[in-house]
Amino acid sequence: MAPTNTPAPLEGKKRRIGVMTSGGDSPGMNGAVRAVVRMAIYNKCEAYAIYEGYDGLVKGGDMIKKMEWEDVRGFLGEGGTLIGTARCMEFMERRGRLRGAKNLVVKGIDALVICGGDGSLTGADKFREEWPGLLKELVETKELTEQDIAPFKHLNIVGLVGSIDNDLSMTDATIGCFSSLARICEAVDSVDTTATSHQRAFVIEVMGRHCGWLALMTGVATGADFIFIPEEPPKEDWEEDMCRIVKKHRAMGKRKTIVIVCEGAQDRNLKKITPNAVKDLLTNRAGLDTRVTTLGHVQRGGTPSAYDRMLATLQGVEAVKAVMEATPETPSPVICVLENKIVRRSLLEAVAQTKEVATAIEAKDFHRAMELRDAEFSEYYKSYQITTAADQPELMLPKEKRMRIGIIHVGAPAGGMNAATRAAVAYCLTRGHTPVALHNGFPGLIRHHSDKPVGSVREVTWLDADRWASKGGSEIGTNRGLPSEDLETVSKVFDKFNIQALFCVGGFEAFTAISELRRGRAHYSSFKIPMVILPATVSNNVPGTEYSIGSDTCLNALIQYCDACRQSASSSRRCVFVIETQGGESGYIATIAGLSIGALAVYTPEDGIDIKMLSRDIDHLREVFLKDKGQSRAGKIILVNEKASEVFTAHHINKIIQAEARGKFKSRPGIPGHFQQGTTPSPMDRVRAVRFGVKSLQHLESWAGKTKDEIEEDAMSTVVIGIKGAKVLFSPMETVEKKETDWKLRRPKNEFWIGLKDTVDVLSGRPPAPPGS
Ligand code: ATP
Repeated sequence: MAPTNTPAPLEGKKRRIGVMTSGGDSPGMNGAVRAVVRMAIYNKCEAYAIYEGYDGLVKGGDMIKKMEWEDVRGFLGEGGTLIGTARCMEFMERRGRLRGAKNLVVKGIDALVICGGDGSLTGADKFREEWPGLLKELVETKELTEQDIAPFKHLNIVGLVGSIDNDLSMTDATIGCFSSLARICEAVDSVDTTATSHQRAFVIEVMGRHCGWLALMTGVATGADFIFIPEEPPKEDWEEDMCRIVKKHRAMGKRKTIVIVCEGAQDRNLKKITPNAVKDLLTNRAGLDTRVTTLGHVQRGGTPSAYDRMLATLQGVEAVKAVMEATPETPSPVICVLENKIVRRSLLEAVAQTKEVATAIEAKDFHRAMELRDAEFSEYYKSYQITTAADQPELMLPKEKRMRIGIIHVGAPAGGMNAATRAAVAYCLTRGHTPVALHNGFPGLIRHHSDKPVGSVREVTWLDADRWASKGGSEIGTNRGLPSEDLETVSKVFDKFNIQALFCVGGFEAFTAISELRRGRAHYSSFKIPMVILPATVSNNVPGTEYSIGSDTCLNALIQYCDACRQSASSSRRCVFVIETQGGESGYIATIAGLSIGALAVYTPEDGIDIKMLSRDIDHLREVFLKDKGQSRAGKIILVNEKASEVFTAHHINKIIQAEARGKFKSRPGIPGHFQQGTTPSPMDRVRAVRFGVKSLQHLESWAGKTKDEIEEDAMSTVVIGIKGAKVLFSPMETVEKKETDWKLRRPKNEFWIGLKDTVDVLSGRPPAPPGS
């Protein structure tokens, strides 16, 4: 995720910043508190934790405590909120807010960072609006003097959205929603296996009183047969429609049925749709053995995912910056994320827009309700629809627009490759295209044409692909080999199977392969077809995008490994783990994992490693262990990218630390290796794979009917799909190859995340390198 600058402490009035968590707890809230506290201290401000949400604000006294650097040690990986949360009725009344205002003035707090859902942020907005009036009243009633309130004329409020529902408009994600989605998908994947075994149907209820994000994303990530969300109620005859769709899927050979019902699901007349009503329909009309599973509070709990730790950290950092930069005129911001970019938006507008969704739903204006959710939401909904229901004749293209679309995986497996392929296959079949799997990458194609064909080119059926939504690895086989091994044979296979468009999923090798085919057009007309590459690699080093599918799965595997290592040190405590990460010549994975676990130091190929750096870090380590009076019951982590240095490998660094520690602390090496590819792909990788897969296929089909020359002449006929800042775009390969690619180091020339290394260092207290070193 793109950082905003961090390094040198910011200038500005030294503030006392209060931080609180409010409303329902969500995984990642602790990461936000840690980031606010440490960033505040780094900027020479004071940080105060307000315990138990607005309850602590209203009660004051010991509920508002000054926080030191060490007080938030170990917070990042903990679920829930360690400073507590509560629903506070008193704060709903002006009287409660008056007491809250007095407590802030008494404690000298002039800025408040609130992490909570739409209710908490509505309360925050009301508090801000009333602030001058509240102070006036406190003076009139002689609770405070004019002198007392003089330095507090303006209270800066910054919102952080912590909620599992992802119900705030104007942000793509809230802190906690992806962890909750992971919990739900784990449960649905588990139900899936028993459903398949017994050929049962399951109706699964997920949280979301007013927002269908969790239900929608679960549907996309697991390939559920039908979903119910409040923003887009099913059509009038939904009972018939649902039974028709599930029966059709069964007739096509599917052994199980999964229906996801959002807690706030209702029909177009606002009549509640309950899981039991859905169950009765599936039992009585579709004749299926049906069970209901209500997931309940498990959805809220557990360890935060890598994404939530990173989002909470970066948003916490941004919140402190927003406080430092605020003037009396600055409207209160809420920190949001758009695709890959942290942005500040108006708290007032975000709250108002969120309320408008509920109003639109009440008014049965569902079109407006969908519009008011972020653009991503509708796109996911459309992707879900088009890749799920097997029978949508209205979406079928006329014959002349249908294509034969080749699908190929290149490089090492990455989480989400199968989900992308499933989406591509389903999309093809809905539109009338023929999906052709090119098995085992380019070497598979080349072998196919040899004397002993291995059957590596095959049309894929809906049922084949339907099982792939949550599978790791590559079901159609992947290979690192490039087409340049035998470009002529590849061209012959394309001709033989009449491949009219190519969807390629993979990492830097895939990027290289498509580049070779594009340049091969000069000699082989079979390559004059539209081609899209969907970046998929744990290393996230594909030029043209800031995110590759598979990288989130890798980060989750890595933080799981690091958490286990740290915990194993809980008896001896004084232990550092030197862990080697994958990533090739890109330090992305090491840096983001470092951010997500609070690594003491991260070594990347971009910076390299030298002896002075090691020496400084070992001194820092000594200091940390000396200061640690037992607050932290866990070990420390140093992350070393596999190519950070030829000399100082993880093993070597571990030995150096052991020697230097002189028995005062221990050091252990850790090489997670292929464990980093993960098992089941993370929901983020799955849902993005589906969305980008559908977008890629839409791009490919837009070339139907164009001549080979027209295709060759247009740079957009060979593109890489990716996220750049706040946008998802197609970038022409020709430009990306020439301007954005470091071919020697196999990574983008400008790595968007480079600045994040400073954030990791600042938050772990790593001393900066002396100037000129
Ligand atoms: P979740 O998304 O988990 O429900 P939330 O922040 O929306 O989180 P709420 O219970 O709606 O949770 O709100 C939390 C607290 O915020 C309330 O208990 C109350 O103290 C305060 N609050 C909510 N709405 C308002 C309001 N309109 N005015 C003042 N305070 C409010």
